[in-house]
Amino acid sequence: MSAVELETRLTTVLGARTANALEKTLDLRTVDDLLRHYPRRYAERGTLTDLSALQVDEHVTVLARVADVKTYPFRPKGGGRAGGTNVRTEVTVTDGTGSLVLTFFRQPWIAQRLTYGTVGLFAGKVNSFRGRKQLLHPEIAPLDGEDDDARAREFAETIIPIYPASQKVSSWAIQSSVGLVLDALGPNVLGDVADPVPPEVRDRLGLVGLARAWEGVHRPRSTDDHVRARERLRYEEAFVLQATLARRRAVATAEPATARPHVRDGLRDRFEQRLPFALTLGQQEVLGEIAHDLEREHPMQRLLQGEVGSGKTVVALLAMLQVIDTGGQAVLLAPTEVLAQQHERSMRAMLGPMAEAGMLGGEEAATRVRLLTGSLGQKARRAALLDAASGEAGILVGTHAVLEENVQLAELGLVVVDEQHRFGVEQRAALVAKGRTTPHLLVMTATPIPRTVAMTVFGDLDTSTLRELPRGRQPVQSTVVGVAEHPTWLDRAWQRLAEEVANGRQAYVVCPRIGDPALEGPSAEDDTGAPPPPDDGSEADDERELVGVLALADVLESGRLAHVRVGRLHGRMPPDEKDAAMSAFAAGDIDVLVATTVIEVGVDVPNATAMVVMDADRFGVSQLHQLRGRVGRGSHEGLCLLVTGAEAGSPSRERLDAVAATADGFDLARLDVELRREGDVLGARQSGLRSSLKLLSVVRDGEVIAQAREDAGAVLAADPGLVESPALARAIDRLEESAQAEFLEKS
Ligand code: ADP
Ligand code: MG
Repeated sequence: MSAVELETRLTTVLGARTANALEKTLDLRTVDDLLRHYPRRYAERGTLTDLSALQVDEHVTVLARVADVKTYPFRPKGGGRAGGTNVRTEVTVTDGTGSLVLTFFRQPWIAQRLTYGTVGLFAGKVNSFRGRKQLLHPEIAPLDGEDDDARAREFAETIIPIYPASQKVSSWAIQSSVGLVLDALGPNVLGDVADPVPPEVRDRLGLVGLARAWEGVHRPRSTDDHVRARERLRYEEAFVLQATLARRRAVATAEPATARPHVRDGLRDRFEQRLPFALTLGQQEVLGEIAHDLEREHPMQRLLQGEVGSGKTVVALLAMLQVIDTGGQAVLLAPTEVLAQQHERSMRAMLGPMAEAGMLGGEEAATRVRLLTGSLGQKARRAALLDAASGEAGILVGTHAVLEENVQLAELGLVVVDEQHRFGVEQRAALVAKGRTTPHLLVMTATPIPRTVAMTVFGDLDTSTLRELPRGRQPVQSTVVGVAEHPTWLDRAWQRLAEEVANGRQAYVVCPRIGDPALEGPSAEDDTGAPPPPDDGSEADDERELVGVLALADVLESGRLAHVRVGRLHGRMPPDEKDAAMSAFAAGDIDVLVATTVIEVGVDVPNATAMVVMDADRFGVSQLHQLRGRVGRGSHEGLCLLVTGAEAGSPSRERLDAVAATADGFDLARLDVELRREGDVLGARQSGLRSSLKLLSVVRDGEVIAQAREDAGAVLAADPGLVESPALARAIDRLEESAQAEFLEKS
């Protein structure tokens, strides 16, 4: 007897046609695949589908009652007689309030099957015909028909699962396939299926076992059945994912690394003593965590999050100096050239003589800071490569050019990644290959990440958070300027900018595009790799002309800001021009900088006090928060004007109002996550793991994720090899395999 198992192909259990359709249209190959294809929802007797909620073009399965049947003869186009089989049958079904028309051509027998009062399941793609919602030639499954006693009885007794279906396989075909599979497995095999969630965890949380969960989710006898089944399966997804991340972390931190203990009176101590300010308590705490990690003979894997201006860079620099004090080197990776240049400049400025090794005025035991970007000239590039390879450069700041093969480092000890966006597994591997041992890793992000997202997206890293801003920072006053209702307010905005400039301050104007078709190409500029703003479908984007940097700068220069020095900055400018524009702004030689989001991250000009964001509705919530973090960095209060043409009360406007009303980055991050779709939240970093999440929502299921993280951590800590939990080990391996496969498919 060849028993059916989870790995058994569906072709051996089901009819060839159904098995093929399941594989072709829903990618379900094995018994396990099918059992993990969960119903989208459940139809209960007496609760018909809400027909008013149906969307055009959606593939739906509805439970409804026949309210009217009409038959119309029609004359075929190619000739022939009306009547006979040449009839159109219109069946109106209802949920009691709304209605839906089912239309059939040349199927006169439909009128006999779907008589008045019949309750049935109907599936098809919704279209709109003469202002009414219609299914054309839907699949039908009448439930009261005497030809189908079994289904009628089933309907009376149980709840009907509604599956994600396709044109080729209806929801009820899936339902009966699942039934066949569950019966083929039988209670014995099902009962023996190894459960990835260990029994002690299940017992403690009161979760049902896997076999019962599969019965409950696919063949519930009561609401309680499927609620408990889903609860358990949702937990399992979180648990296996967290166990996978915990194991990744365990593997990464088990690698050998060179310990970089704190050297007394080294560069780190001397630098800290010379800072013109004292570190905040938060900075001290975080630096303590990092310093402790660096002392270990295993690589640090840490995420440092804190808002713009919270003092991350200072902490990272202290960590780099601790590494340099032990003879190691640090690499600082920035997402863009502008930021790399700025980091290099500000590190040099902060370090002063400490960064001038071998130069006149350089102090004893000093180090060097070197910049390495793709656009560097030959000479500067050679010098940077030489200093990196010889170990003269303690700090190498750069873009992805640093990852290239010909870049060698004498003693790479620490990698700091500023903004996580483009740093993934491959980049890490490239850097690991450059060191004798695996370098310590510190990822910095200025986008505050809600805890659950951090646990999922950065679940393989330890997290440090800077919550407070250094004292003395001024809040940024934010106001939404709705030009739809108040066209003259834009004028007021320019007036305000002119006033700031008259007071000796500087300002940014941010636009969503460059405004020169020749420069823009097919896709909008995205220098920062930040996620796109949510698409809430509230506006016809393409119809509105968006403000561009170049056009607006011209208009301002020749009009409202005629007596003001206006500069331009965008990602498609040659690097030397970009650098020149940034330097001129930083030096105060430009009063108003009109720019794209290229200024979003890290740019630090304390004298800049005002910002006008054009078409602010085009930016995401967190992105706007980042942007306004550019102003109010000095001792003067900051002002941010969010200009929008979106109507008051529209979703876009509400988003902007929330940004204006909320100063806390964490609150906004939470809001941002709620507004974004699941896939966007997880981002590219863990894209391979995303498809394992069918029931779990990173946005809604924070508590489940936190619980699962704790439980998975405990299980792995007690039994690192998972000897006691082979089913969990297998589930992790499977997840890693599919993540790997997905990763390869994409690259
Ligand atoms: P982040 O990298 O998080 O944006 P930075 O480290 O660049 O923040 O710090 C922002 C500004 O605040 C810098 O000008 C920095 O010199 C200053 N700063 C950092 N820490 C403190 C502190 N403890 N007290 C006062 N100012 C600080
Ligand atoms: Mg910074």
